[in-house]
Amino acid sequence: MKVLVAVKRVVDYNVKIRVKSDESGVDLANVKMAMNPFCEIAVEEAVRLKESGAADEIVVVSMGPKACQEQIRTAMALGADRGIQIETDEDLESLAVAKLLAKVVEEEQPGLVILGKQSIDSDNNQTGQMLGAITGMPQGTFASEVNLGEGIVDVTREVDGGLQTLSLKMPAIVTTDLRLNEPRYASLPNIMKAKRKPLDVKTPADYGVDVTPRLKTLKVEAPAQREAGILVSSVDELVEKLKNEAKVI
Ligand code: AMP
Repeated sequence: MKVLVAVKRVVDYNVKIRVKSDESGVDLANVKMAMNPFCEIAVEEAVRLKESGAADEIVVVSMGPKACQEQIRTAMALGADRGIQIETDEDLESLAVAKLLAKVVEEEQPGLVILGKQSIDSDNNQTGQMLGAITGMPQGTFASEVNLGEGIVDVTREVDGGLQTLSLKMPAIVTTDLRLNEPRYASLPNIMKAKRKPLDVKTPADYGVDVTPRLKTLKVEAPAQREAGILVSSVDELVEKLKNEAKVI
């Protein structure tokens, strides 16, 4: 079985982001970029399926500027066999990503498509669901456990107040939650080996997909600065302030 994994290049989660002074977006100049953490979990799950013998090939796809080849190489160093980059400098919206992924699915015919549940930059949480709608494939979102059977995949999902387990007919789509697994680090020899793995570069036009944005960002604002707290000297003073200043009790 072939597994297709979608990985996104995003601002590294350790970076304290800055909003551009004209409030048109986040300043990406000289900012460290990395693979979206939920996509790392998706790659790890695919690698574990391959190690268990359930999958025999992992194809990783990333869309965006040339630099997203770095994230494809990282996925290859972690165990993916080959990569597809769909190159565009356009700001890709989830629908465009889902349409392109649907074309890749048509071409590659994977048994399983694994995506992150959410990009940590745009916080959309919709690409997997849109891919499900476009392709008609069943989807298990927010997976915390994935078990393969004969032509089916059981997906345990973290839902409000508990866990829900679904059985999906394959080919199916899974989106990863934080507790699905703990991604490994790539070893140096594997990073070197990854450089020689095949990587196809395509464009949205090759798939006949129009990726022109449909939304316009009006404004991006940084969160309001938090005011400094104060130290009180006694419980009585605290109660007095909560009552008369904060007026919360
Ligand atoms: P989102 O719906 O934007 O929150 O993204 C959810 C998931 O869709 C990500 O974790 C990726 O697996 C996938 N995805 C979103 N954008 C891209 C992209 N530009 N290239 C590849 N995969 C993407």
